[in-house]
Amino acid sequence: MQLRAQAAKGVARSGLCPQTIIRSSPFAIYTRDRRGIVTAWNPAAEKLFGWRAEQILGKPLLTVPHDKEQETAELRDRVLSGESIIDLEVQRQKQDGTLFDLSTTLAPLRDASGTVTGYLAIATDITARKAAEQQVEFLAYRDVLTGLPNRLLLQDRFGQAIAHAERSHSKVALVFLDLDNFKTINDSLGHAVGDALLREIARRLGECVRETDTISRQGGDEFLLVLSDLAGTEAIPPVLLKIRERLQSPFTVDGHELTTSASIGVALYPDDGRDFETLLKKADTAMYRAKDAGRNHYRFFDEQMNVEAVEHLHLKSGLRRALAQGEFELYYQPQFELASGRVVGVEALLRWHHPEAGLIPPARFIPVAEDSGLIVPIGDWVIQEACRQAMAWRAAGLPPLIMAVNLSAVQFRRGEVQQTIAQALQTTGFDPHLLELELTESVLIGDTETVLSSVRQLKQLGVKLSVDDFGTGYSSLSYLKRFDVDKLKIDQSFVRDLASDPDDAAIVRAIVQMAGSLNLRTIAEGVEDAATLALLREFSCDEAQGYHLARPMAAQAFVDFMTHRAGASSSNEKVGMP
Ligand code: C2E
Ligand code: MG
Ligand code: MG
Repeated sequence: MQLRAQAAKGVARSGLCPQTIIRSSPFAIYTRDRRGIVTAWNPAAEKLFGWRAEQILGKPLLTVPHDKEQETAELRDRVLSGESIIDLEVQRQKQDGTLFDLSTTLAPLRDASGTVTGYLAIATDITARKAAEQQVEFLAYRDVLTGLPNRLLLQDRFGQAIAHAERSHSKVALVFLDLDNFKTINDSLGHAVGDALLREIARRLGECVRETDTISRQGGDEFLLVLSDLAGTEAIPPVLLKIRERLQSPFTVDGHELTTSASIGVALYPDDGRDFETLLKKADTAMYRAKDAGRNHYRFFDEQMNVEAVEHLHLKSGLRRALAQGEFELYYQPQFELASGRVVGVEALLRWHHPEAGLIPPARFIPVAEDSGLIVPIGDWVIQEACRQAMAWRAAGLPPLIMAVNLSAVQFRRGEVQQTIAQALQTTGFDPHLLELELTESVLIGDTETVLSSVRQLKQLGVKLSVDDFGTGYSSLSYLKRFDVDKLKIDQSFVRDLASDPDDAAIVRAIVQMAGSLNLRTIAEGVEDAATLALLREFSCDEAQGYHLARPMAAQAFVDFMTHRAGASSSNEKVGMP
């Protein structure tokens, strides 16, 4: 009371009335009644929000963005029940709809009896300050030259990545990348060129990783990458190769054509360590080993990983040559009809005769071929060769047999597999009804429209479709109908222990029954003993394939095998089908 009296005296002494103070205030000052109707509006408020006093007085004020309405109503209730709110930072809309940042102080207005009749707001624009704060934050967490996260932000992202890896039992790779010849470029062409090169490198690195990965610049010509959510280590070499390829293609900077390369070191969470500092040290050590190896190399901290990565690289460059050098061969594994004991078909299985390493099984090189896209030309060769061989057997007097060929998902995604197949059928004259394509469930489940339309076109040619490794994938079976599947190949993992594991027996029996009711044929793969074969017969499985019956063999060996069987069965001895 006393203070107010003194203030009033001061005002009186200076000759200023409150109206004048409010009018000249650089702060927006306005009042609203309990319903939110504006009852006073000073010139600074006009300037801040865009409405003139005569436009807004007696009307509600609509400055609150839609998503903030609830929050604002709560604030108003607090003020109307007598609370003052000081320096609240909010976002509001101007008359023309633009959003801006505002700091506001709200206080209740009371009448003579002390009842709250409305409230007073004093507000000021803080957009510039907010922008400056964001800039400060950007500078604190970003590398100014490239805009990439700096070490601080990278460390934070790394923390999130390992927390996720912990929950999902995945791995995280910390990749240390150091440019090989950057100093020379910087010294000879100047910093401006060096900077432009670094920016372009940052951009290219961005193209090599997924959105969930983080790239950061550590200063100078060093970059750190966090590759997160890796199911296994196989996913890393392809990323490193991609980086190497992207960095190798020439850069044009300021009229100079530049080439560069990088030495890369990799450490893995949790294998090589569990915290950032430890992994950084190990990635750094690995990077120096890469430099020692002669630059433009990459090294894992773990030696075994190096062996595997080198193998990946060897296989990839070898695969490029293998087709041209005729190093591939198809083996054929007979498929038997259980009711008659006859051989009704073969599965074509790819073999690679590596000039140094010898015979390499498909499980080792097909993933590499898929990664690099080489599976497309290799797969084309397989189809052509399988059809050619089938016709050659016919010419040699063998009966018509199903030729089953494995197709990879990548062939559907990247290639024009239906054209290749149509062409192979045409050039060889092989009967499409005898060609069976083995697809895994993952191809059919990940059904993009392209897979569906490719498969439809293939089925129109008369080609048969079987689902390989059936039972290991997904439980949704709607795709069987959608793709008009003909046969299920029950996966080896259920067949292997069929005779000893009652669960496996139940699964196989169920698959056969379900297939029967859907009018699909069934074949069991991986039959290794007589007991398993007997059970499959009991379950009414249609066909079987496995070491117990016959191993995969070269084309000529298959002719001998069939000739021998024909001779044996005429002398009433059942060979191969005990
Ligand atoms: P898959 O299509 O499931 O082929 C069956 C695999 O089981 C073959 O291995 C075969 O030799 C093996 N096998 C057959 N009977 C038995 C048995 O009684 N016991 C055991 N333990 N194994 C048996 P292979 O030839 O090493 O091929 C492995 C995989 O490589 C194939 O699995 C297939 O997914 C892929 N593959 C083979 N050739 C090609 C091809 O030309 N193209 C594509 N995309 N993939 C191929
Ligand atoms: Mg197969
Ligand atoms: Mg299989």
